[in-house]
Amino acid sequence: MLAELPLGDARLLGLGMVFTALLIPVLGCSKSGSTNTVPNLSTDATSGQVSTNSSPTPAASQAPDTRPARQFPLESTAHDAGWRYQKRPEGHKLADLLPPAGSNSPGVDQTGAAPTNESLIQSAGIRKLVGRHVVIYTDLATDPAVDQLPLVFDQAVPQWAEYFAVDPQATSEWQVVGHVISDKEKFLSTALLPRDLPPFLHGYQRGHRFWVYDQPSAYYRRHLLLHEGTHAFMRRFLGSAGPPWYMEGIAELLGTHRWVDDRLTIACMPRHREEVPYWGRIKVVRDQVKQNRAQTLSTIMIQERDDFLRVDAYGWSWAAATFLDGHPRYRDRFRKLAAVVEDPQFSKIVRDRFADDWDQLTEEWQLFVMNLDYGYDLAREAIVFAANRSSHELEDPVTLRTDRGWQSSGLRLEAGVEYVVSAAGRYVVADESEPWWCEPNGVTIRYHQGRPLGMLLYAIRPNERRAGMTALARPGEIGMRRIITPRHAGTLFLRINDSPAELADNEGSVTVQITRR
Ligand SMILES: [Zn+2]
Repeated sequence: MLAELPLGDARLLGLGMVFTALLIPVLGCSKSGSTNTVPNLSTDATSGQVSTNSSPTPAASQAPDTRPARQFPLESTAHDAGWRYQKRPEGHKLADLLPPAGSNSPGVDQTGAAPTNESLIQSAGIRKLVGRHVVIYTDLATDPAVDQLPLVFDQAVPQWAEYFAVDPQATSEWQVVGHVISDKEKFLSTALLPRDLPPFLHGYQRGHRFWVYDQPSAYYRRHLLLHEGTHAFMRRFLGSAGPPWYMEGIAELLGTHRWVDDRLTIACMPRHREEVPYWGRIKVVRDQVKQNRAQTLSTIMIQERDDFLRVDAYGWSWAAATFLDGHPRYRDRFRKLAAVVEDPQFSKIVRDRFADDWDQLTEEWQLFVMNLDYGYDLAREAIVFAANRSSHELEDPVTLRTDRGWQSSGLRLEAGVEYVVSAAGRYVVADESEPWWCEPNGVTIRYHQGRPLGMLLYAIRPNERRAGMTALARPGEIGMRRIITPRHAGTLFLRINDSPAELADNEGSVTVQITRR
């Protein structure tokens, strides 16, 4: 959803950060005046493709982007759920885009005096739902899913405070005004929907007010409420919502929720499509990956406001935030960015904090987007790297966990040498009505990625970073035994074949023996 940018933000760019599930930090936006510092974390920043030719070149990446500052179109008609948007009217200059004088203070209502004609509002068929942190005007009929919205919002506030490390006491008096709209005319005629608001498809936030159009599912209606609420919270308590990808990524991350027995949990990886009807961000990413249009983190981080005239920008920003916030190696650094959200050097900070392991991060991002699915288990899919062992340790068997993704064997194999890899073990690959026992050949009653579930797979990760897709994205089969002859030297990585969403119910291990033939 769109959020009106305060004047200072109208020139911001740079990247932001993201994070995920119930944790915390926040992001920032770099207000860089007339010059934008663009984080060029990888050399493939312009390709728009996932590839590993993004060898980080810290020296080159220091160069500031000298493009003219982008002006954000306040009259944009787009919303995150919409592909349709109107072309920006011609002839707009910066001055046309600025909010009225004195209206650009964060947290200050920029829409003028709040409407107070309650009798007019009531006679228009608009109800007023009052919570502690939100007052919602809506023309929707009484329904539990509607009437609970203030409760949903109120439960989100302490979770936002925790995530962004804001003192809960500071939020005690905070209250915003929301509007959940079915018939737009009713809100225009009562001045609840200011006529100076830009057109929007689903939601819009400015100052301490937000507006969302009603949605066909209770989930997506709540999601929009939480998305716009995240924007409002960040602007009020962090002073900024950060650069576009960060602002929208965080709002999507913290808007993705569960509402069970009147209890809200935000920042949840959706487990099934049915859990998040009409949300569709995972589908957007999956569809674009299929079309060979996968984004790199670098390209996501330099998205500008105009890019968010398309729904795919929201999908990729959600993915970036979810990945960085959910991955155990990157989470802390990502969340700590919240503390520097207003730092003009935000982009440089991001670049510096992830520079040392950007290659690994890029490989893991590739695996994440290539295999993205509902319930993706980022913690279990995190690659297990290990110190390399010497070749004389080949005789020592390797123990592989079946409830994790790729794991290094620590063994460096030489190019052109034949190795015999044999595996043994009995383990559980699914636990539904009863445990599914399995051996390294896998079970042929269920397949994943065209191979038997539970089959032992391998990949040889080159010792030096190479351009293109990570070798871990193109595994080979081992099963019980196989002779492999590496085409290039590298470290042997192993895993069993399973969905990244279904590792948690696996149990047991595989013992793998590698010998020279
Ligand atoms: Zn938004």
